[in-house]
Amino acid sequence: MSTTAKIHVFDPTKPASAAAALWPAAASKHPKASATRVVFSAEDDSVTALASLGPDFGAKMGHARREVVRRAVGSAMKQVAALEDVNEVLVDGEADPHAAAVAAHLAAYRFTLKTSGPKRVEASAIKALESSAEWDRGVVYGEAQNLARTLMELPSNMLTPTLFAEWIQQEFAGLADTTVWVRDEEWAKEKGMRTFLSVCSGSNEPGKFVEMHYQGAPSSDAAPLVLVGKGITFDTGGISLKPAADMKLMRGDMGGAAAVVAAIQAIAKLKLPINVVALTPLTENMPSGSATKPGDVIYAMNGKTVEVDNTDAEGRLVLADAIYYGSSEFNAHTLIDVATLTGAMDIALGEVFTGVFTPSDTLWEQLYVAGEHEYDRLWRMPLDDDYAPQISGSSCTAALFLKSFVHGLDAERPIEWAHIDIAGTMEATREKPYLLKGMTGSSVRALIETRLSYKNSIESIALLLRLLDPTVPPFTRTTAAN
Ligand SMILES: [Zn+2]
Repeated sequence: MSTTAKIHVFDPTKPASAAAALWPAAASKHPKASATRVVFSAEDDSVTALASLGPDFGAKMGHARREVVRRAVGSAMKQVAALEDVNEVLVDGEADPHAAAVAAHLAAYRFTLKTSGPKRVEASAIKALESSAEWDRGVVYGEAQNLARTLMELPSNMLTPTLFAEWIQQEFAGLADTTVWVRDEEWAKEKGMRTFLSVCSGSNEPGKFVEMHYQGAPSSDAAPLVLVGKGITFDTGGISLKPAADMKLMRGDMGGAAAVVAAIQAIAKLKLPINVVALTPLTENMPSGSATKPGDVIYAMNGKTVEVDNTDAEGRLVLADAIYYGSSEFNAHTLIDVATLTGAMDIALGEVFTGVFTPSDTLWEQLYVAGEHEYDRLWRMPLDDDYAPQISGSSCTAALFLKSFVHGLDAERPIEWAHIDIAGTMEATREKPYLLKGMTGSSVRALIETRLSYKNSIESIALLLRLLDPTVPPFTRTTAAN
């Protein structure tokens, strides 16, 4: 038995016909935002979920308005996706097709490895009642975040550095304008990536350094955006072993790598007119006879000397060489690194905001606007030299450490750099309006959205217009695909 469900979100102050017919009281009582009613009809075996946008939807603008739509669609989707025989869902996303598509895909997502796991509504079975470019774009955003969630959820034996690299190669095969290189430890040795290799050395699983290129700019020489993602496929802490409780969460310590892989793939699918390079240093952090020990001294790729105080601070070691390589090799205008770096982020910002460290006000503004647009929210943290003398693993000290590996910060036209620490937002410990508990794929949508509005005059104008008038659709590239 299979049934198609429909989702309608409606403004109760002016109920649409479907809502008026199925939930007549809504017009007089104005149910609060996200209040949902599921209506079954035995006559034609149909299921319809109605979700209210709340009595003050008409007064809501911009980011706030979009989030109301996401929550309403998410609330309805969670209910219909849980119904046993529903396996196709049609969404009336007219209120905001992009936001509706994102929420529908995020709310329908279920991760399971069981062969007879809970029934799920496949992404391909979630459709718009009325097709639009906005909806299609939203699907790419939502699916990108779901991809990052899956990669983070996968157990470490199913996503070793080798398997992760193979998976990227398969996933990018046939994706226009992209090239993938999988580098091995031998290559890293030749490059002098000794801090990266110092983490690889403790594991029997060989480290991999994956380099993805997307050429979407009219000129292949156009300076690229470089994304760097921390890819510790399992973090035991190394010789400075972590406590056993909750250690399995450390299968998600490659969340930064997952985020940048998902973002560059989405940017390629959207055919954005920019060049992007994504780099993921992939390795396990294990204790063994060949592991790096506390007190060991390593010379990084850029010549700096690093004393390892605690081997559980391995993230900054793999990032140090990757950030230096990314900022010195490609003539990048911007480098953004994403990492589950410091547990202290969770104490500072909880699961609500992701911390961003950057010396650039311009880049921060772009990231902030993008994060608000997608409700993938970012908060600027201090990046200040006064944190340097602190030896403890505070988030600010870690960010300052990374800064010393960014090449070109003091150039005449300095590279823009931001460090995004997703350690606090990597996992939802409580259910959210359109996310079930589990790995979140946080910052993926903010990253895609940032690129949509960056370093491109036409896009900047579109962005400005959107800030002034939220009903102006975002810039979409319309040139032919190849
Ligand atoms: Zn660690």
